[in-house]
Amino acid sequence: MTLKKYQQKRDFKHTPEPKGKSSKRRQKNPIFVVHEHWASHHHFDFRLEIDGALKSWAIPKGPPLKKAEKRLAVQVEDHPLEYANFEGEIPKGLYGAGKVEIWDQGDITSLKTQKNLIEFELKGKKLTGRFALVHPQKFEKKNWLLIKRD
Ligand code: MN
Repeated sequence: MTLKKYQQKRDFKHTPEPKGKSSKRRQKNPIFVVHEHWASHHHFDFRLEIDGALKSWAIPKGPPLKKAEKRLAVQVEDHPLEYANFEGEIPKGLYGAGKVEIWDQGDITSLKTQKNLIEFELKGKKLTGRFALVHPQKFEKKNWLLIKRD
């Protein structure tokens, strides 16, 4: 797990985002966070704590709320764990410019990761219950589906 891509894309002299370091954090449950991001295209960033970083996907239409709903989730670079608490305004001209707000956050109460399938249960305010991230073979490498199970 590396934050190299994350750090290469950003100018930490100017962005209010955390620089981040790889860290191991031990608390009872791993966490998730969903950021709402008013970038050039409004989207949601869905992040799961896996192996000491936040695995991240951009979801143009936002996470699914009803059983069996599916949403395109485009994988982006891993983000540092500190990013889970980030909210702010990324200045114009910088990567990801625009307002970032936490839309939901909470615990991952179960997690099973395979190569093209991540199954998990969330306990947040807006997102609760079982979900899966699936990478269908026919899809481009970065394109996944986030599916609400129950
Ligand atoms: Mn974003």
